[in-house]
Amino acid sequence: MPCGGLLLRLGHTPVMARSGEEALQMLETQPVDMIIMDVEMPCLNGFETTRLIREWLAGHWIPIIFVTGLADDENYREGIEAGGDDYLIKPVSYMIIKAKIRAMERIAEMRDQLNRLNNELEALSQLDSLTQILNRRSFNEFAQQQWAQTKRHQQPISALMIDVDHFKLYNDHYGHPAGDACLKKVTQAIKSCLHRTNDLLGRYGGEEFVVLLPETDTQGAYCVAQAINKAICDLNIPHTTSMTGTHVTASIGGATCIRTTSHSLDELVKYADRALYKAKRSGRNRALVDEVAIHKTILLADKDQKNIQHFSDLLAQHFTILTCESGKECFELSLDVSPDLILMSEDIMLMDDKMLCQELAQNPKTSGIPVTIFSETPCLEHPAIKANLGIKACFDKTQNAPTLLNNILQVIH
Ligand code: GH3
Ligand code: MG
Ligand code: MG
Repeated sequence: MPCGGLLLRLGHTPVMARSGEEALQMLETQPVDMIIMDVEMPCLNGFETTRLIREWLAGHWIPIIFVTGLADDENYREGIEAGGDDYLIKPVSYMIIKAKIRAMERIAEMRDQLNRLNNELEALSQLDSLTQILNRRSFNEFAQQQWAQTKRHQQPISALMIDVDHFKLYNDHYGHPAGDACLKKVTQAIKSCLHRTNDLLGRYGGEEFVVLLPETDTQGAYCVAQAINKAICDLNIPHTTSMTGTHVTASIGGATCIRTTSHSLDELVKYADRALYKAKRSGRNRALVDEVAIHKTILLADKDQKNIQHFSDLLAQHFTILTCESGKECFELSLDVSPDLILMSEDIMLMDDKMLCQELAQNPKTSGIPVTIFSETPCLEHPAIKANLGIKACFDKTQNAPTLLNNILQVIH
């Protein structure tokens, strides 16, 4: 019986790839628990395919078993060296394949247990295992202490969010292990720019770093950010697929809080995040530092550029305005910058057949953001309000500036 039939009989769901290339493509989009592979295949043979899989999935082991007609010892040796876990000579009986799968399942269970324990250990430890700098949780703890101290001394404090540019493309081109090595070098470059004992550096997410600079004003923060940009450029790590330059670069968003008494650390980081977004949008490989302002941020979403211009002009004096022209962009921006309010026109509400406001309400990162709509339909009559889609208010598109401002302030405060 062919292998697929045997696997079905054993209660597994086989997916078939007709060549090594197809298998590699499949793995990019579809997680699999085990690979059973022939050796003789067109173009990439089984050994070459296995070497590539092992290189690409360096951090994640999947059992690979060869099933082949090639019976000599040299092939067996090469298969295991290439990264195979077992080597079976055709024809393979039902009982043998069943026993081998069981053995591999046992090892995979141990792998999962080890991963779980590693995650627990990392959570307990203060350091990120790859870069050996503070992980997000411990950064937050230490940053809170620094915040309290700065507040007592009534000093300014700044934060920088640093994000490697086009890092997905870097991984795709050079492979994940090279990506990891790059992140370690970037860490060293950032560290080399932090000179005060109270400066804090943490790994915030994958390729995102966060720096806290106590007793540092906007100018100081900008100087440090520029130095970090330069130190990362000076690493001279080639990145041929980057759309920003020929080498690895990073974008930096910074924020400074002058009056800590009326703000929080979360707000400071949120402002730095927004500045990072602006740095990305304005071309990457640069630093932007904003001051934490009393101004709240409104995300204005409308397909009509003229409307966007009109309402931006009306509101720009009182709020920081971010704009977008599609539902998808509105959702992504909301995730990235957490605006204080979303003001969307009716034509934005439908996103890929889903209601944008429902998506926003269901995502924990955006569910707290008040959503309001611009409409030509009277508010209480509006279908989205009637359907109880979490809309806070609905504004008439034709209302004058003072009324609109007043209405918005009622929702934000
Ligand atoms: P942008 O310039 O807009 O920041 O683009 P980007 O590709 O850097 O951003 P995106 O957030 O789309 O991709 C981040 C990528 O970082 C995704 C993942 O491939 C990679 N990454 C995240 N964590 C790690 C890690 O620990 N090691 C490696 N090698 N790559 C990582
Ligand atoms: Mg990035
Ligand atoms: Mg990122």
